[in-house]
Amino acid sequence: MTDPLFQKACIVGIGLIGSSLAHGMREHHLCTEIVGCDLSQDVCDKAVSLGVVTEAGPSPSKMVSDCDLIILSVPVGAMSAVLLELNVHAAAGAIIMDVGSVKGSVAEAADGLRDDLYFVPAHPVAGTEKSGPSAGFASLFEKRWSIITPLENPSTEYKAALTLVEALWQGLGADTVQMDAQHHDIALAVTSHLPHLIAFTLVSAADDIESVNEKEVVKYSAGGFRDFTRIAASDPVMWRDVFLHNREAVLEVLGHFSEELAAMQKAIRWGDGEALEKAFSRARGLRREIIEAGQEVDLPNFGRDQEKTIEEE
Ligand code: NAP
Repeated sequence: MTDPLFQKACIVGIGLIGSSLAHGMREHHLCTEIVGCDLSQDVCDKAVSLGVVTEAGPSPSKMVSDCDLIILSVPVGAMSAVLLELNVHAAAGAIIMDVGSVKGSVAEAADGLRDDLYFVPAHPVAGTEKSGPSAGFASLFEKRWSIITPLENPSTEYKAALTLVEALWQGLGADTVQMDAQHHDIALAVTSHLPHLIAFTLVSAADDIESVNEKEVVKYSAGGFRDFTRIAASDPVMWRDVFLHNREAVLEVLGHFSEELAAMQKAIRWGDGEALEKAFSRARGLRREIIEAGQEVDLPNFGRDQEKTIEEE
């Protein structure tokens, strides 16, 4: 067995992503000791009782002072306040990594950090609609991408920190890629933020449409609607922050989407079957590419029936 990459890590924000990291790091022997920090004492107690972390408390000052790795897994809007505290209490030489879904605003928030702290922004493109310390599991990041958006003009020490962070994600089974924060934010606005916005809007709109009563929305939900409700069940605070902090990129892709939607509306109104079929075939082709890239399974019902069978076994 190889030596762990880190001696002591503190997970700040022990929710879905934070607890999944803790489970994965423990399972793959990537860190000797893992402690936690969360706003709520209840979450701290639960995380300890579930064995996610060995010790946890609400105050970063008490938890981070002897850590060589600090992971920020709080909502994007809370990153800047936590970073201010870490700037005072983190040990010299500590690596601070965030996992926020938006990278530009988090890099800005880290701008005033001490020179002896190494901030490496990362975003695992993996998740579920669940939240909290009991939602995490070790295999969440396996065969998923973790996007790292390094700061500019890196020192030799910073490059070493970057190498360790990449090794951490690879140790968890993820593939890593580096890109700049602005590119990340526009790419993820397309692949993640817009789909969530559409799901939230669609599900709320269905709730508002008076001609279909609520029982029918629930009863016939298997016809596509149900899959949107899963995405729309995602944490409201996390997603509020994503849209507030990735405003420009989301508005840009939303503009393109609105134009495409208007084109669909026109095709339906004018009976333009050829345009509809062309657009739907393109979409189907893209799904095939996603399956071929190993980012989705080619099973009916997204493989959920198979998961059920495995759980039942
Ligand atoms: P989560 O399950 O809601 O966990 C976040 C935790 O952070 C909660 O326990 C929350 O406590 C705590 N928290 C909030 N403010 C804090 C503060 N100032 N100090 C300490 N703890 C604080 O959320 P998550 O899904 O793990 O998301 C965490 C981060 O990962 C976010 O930045 C998100 O953008 C990113 N991310 C999420 C996904 C996903 O699919 N969920 C995927 C990739 C990246 P309270 O509940 O008491 O407020």
